[in-house]
Amino acid sequence: MMTDQASLSDDAYNEVFVGAFTQQEPLTDAAIEAAVAVMRTGRLHRYNTVGSEISETAALEVEFANYVGSKYALAVASGGYAMGCALRAVGVAPGDKVLSNAFTLAPVPGAIAAVGAQPVFVGVTEALTIDLDDLHSKIGEARILLLSHMRGHICDMDRLMDICDDAGVIVIEDCAHTMGGGWRGVASGRHGAIGCYSCQTYKHINSGEGGLIVTDDSTLAARMVLMSGSYMLYERHDAAPGPQAFEGLKYDMPNISGRMDNLRAAILRPQLAELDTQVARWNERYLALEEGLRATPGLTLVERPEEEQIVGSSFQFLLLDWHGDKVRDVIGRCGARGVELKWFGAEDPVAFTSKYDQWRYAEPQLMPVSDRVLAGVVDLRVPLTFSTEDCAQIARIIRAEVSAVHQAV
Ligand SMILES: *Cc1c(COP(=O)(O)O)cnc(C)c1O
Repeated sequence: MMTDQASLSDDAYNEVFVGAFTQQEPLTDAAIEAAVAVMRTGRLHRYNTVGSEISETAALEVEFANYVGSKYALAVASGGYAMGCALRAVGVAPGDKVLSNAFTLAPVPGAIAAVGAQPVFVGVTEALTIDLDDLHSKIGEARILLLSHMRGHICDMDRLMDICDDAGVIVIEDCAHTMGGGWRGVASGRHGAIGCYSCQTYKHINSGEGGLIVTDDSTLAARMVLMSGSYMLYERHDAAPGPQAFEGLKYDMPNISGRMDNLRAAILRPQLAELDTQVARWNERYLALEEGLRATPGLTLVERPEEEQIVGSSFQFLLLDWHGDKVRDVIGRCGARGVELKWFGAEDPVAFTSKYDQWRYAEPQLMPVSDRVLAGVVDLRVPLTFSTEDCAQIARIIRAEVSAVHQAV
């Protein structure tokens, strides 16, 4: 086993990766043809149907509910919209506090801010999951937890649900990075009262923008259908509760339009049918990276628990307790060799990456334990346009540069 710089081949110091970290696969012919068929009808709005026709959007909802095993599903305009809609449905009002992860991406605290509520951040562990001890200590501060399975890392969901159920806290899951994944055989998004997913280009199914929401609760489902902008056409939802669930609500729920359209749904349906195949392909690539980085001095891998069904669409490792300059050095050296790494310890937000103390609309919180973890988190995307050989090469480059900088520490 390679354990130090001397045993790395010369190649490891010269090769350059030429793939693009933001390049997703093209859509399949099936998806393209489905989109063209919708365009030929001109009926892009989900309620623009003829006779007993079932719209692409309504069909996607049924298929997604079946996929995750929920009673109800609703397709919406984005993952951010899904979370906002869920927060409104459970009654979050301006000024309320909502528990959420310190380690997540900006749309999550943004969804809380959008309903006028205040995020209360819960820390992150070295496993990159929510700190359940910290959650336990803060559980009395709010009625709702917006739980983000950030970068696909799923915490001990049994313990999390025990903590929340005991305190009467409602859980909304942000599954932007876990669509297709699960915990002990239960699909991600099916532990809490509501699960929210994103179909944005960098997630697991791609319609550019888009979101999905699932629940088993007929009242929550009816509220969300009405809010998403159903006018009084909610009977055209095949994955929604029957008309009686809407009776007491239809005069009270504001219309906050955020529907999905038939074009996006048409593109997504064939992708959903292929999702499990894609998950297996992501995981092959993830394993190639993990294998290639194992036992790199100074680098901590994030070991995945057996209970977790992962979707390896991104990869994280930790450079724990490294000086910031050294981490920057690693990122610069890898970047020069074509390997684009993101760092959660940077002082300023960069592209998609930012952290809790940079969301200044939230009240400042002191989280030294999380700061230590975040200062070490290095992150890379794993698009399916990479081969497993590409991933092995990326790992060789990271390993070489981490080793070189670590030796100089
Ligand atoms: C992408 C993302 C979302 C949803 O974002 P949209 O761009 O609004 O679809 C939610 N949470 C996380 C962690 C994300 O990365």
